Amino acid sequence: MPRYGMAVDLDRCIGCQACAVACAVENQVPEGFFRRRVGEVTTGDDPATLRLTFLHLQCYHCERPPCVPVCPTGATYVTRDGLCLVNYDICIGCRACVTACPYGMRYPHPRGVVDKCSLCDHRIAAGRLPACVEACPTRALVFGDLDDPASPLRQAIAAAARVEVDRPELGTRPKFFLLNGRVSLPEARGEGMPAQAAEVTGR
Ligand code: SF4
Ligand code: SF4
Repeated sequence: MPRYGMAVDLDRCIGCQACAVACAVENQVPEGFFRRRVGEVTTGDDPATLRLTFLHLQCYHCERPPCVPVCPTGATYVTRDGLCLVNYDICIGCRACVTACPYGMRYPHPRGVVDKCSLCDHRIAAGRLPACVEACPTRALVFGDLDDPASPLRQAIAAAARVEVDRPELGTRPKFFLLNGRVSLPEARGEGMPAQAAEVTGR
């Protein structure tokens, strides 16, 4: 079985939001919510040191996802190919998973369930790429099988000068990788610039 994941090459991302728009259209995300969002963070306080980077906010399809064991109905589950999904037929909208996700990647859908990125599992099943990956004009987003050394994802990770995941100390083992970041993730997330990161992450 594959073990699907994703990465963003921050050297290539231009922050255009095409991925976020494609995601919202593909998955009919209601206005005011997001499954995928790209935030902009600047660090440095003078023109010589000013740096711009982008935060990519979407479910990381963690290998040890804290959102799964808290679900009282089993609606949140991990597939054999490593996708963390929601079974909307048995989700009761209790939001235990929203609280348990340390990254804030889930939202309460107005129809009474909880929703988040599915890596476009319906497209993967049809042999297609996730909508965000297909829409990216600079090919900054990479999808693939982490267990296949020849996959575009493994190749991109192998070629990157810098590889990060969000808050590895939590032990969640995210399968979303940030490649070639020029600002460290903690710095981008707010340890250096709390106000801007808070605006982006909602924390
Ligand atoms: S990012 Fe959050 S919602 Fe996604 S698998 Fe990890 S804990 Fe669950
Ligand atoms: S579509 Fe590509 S370049 Fe545009 S914001 Fe998304 S990842 Fe970055």
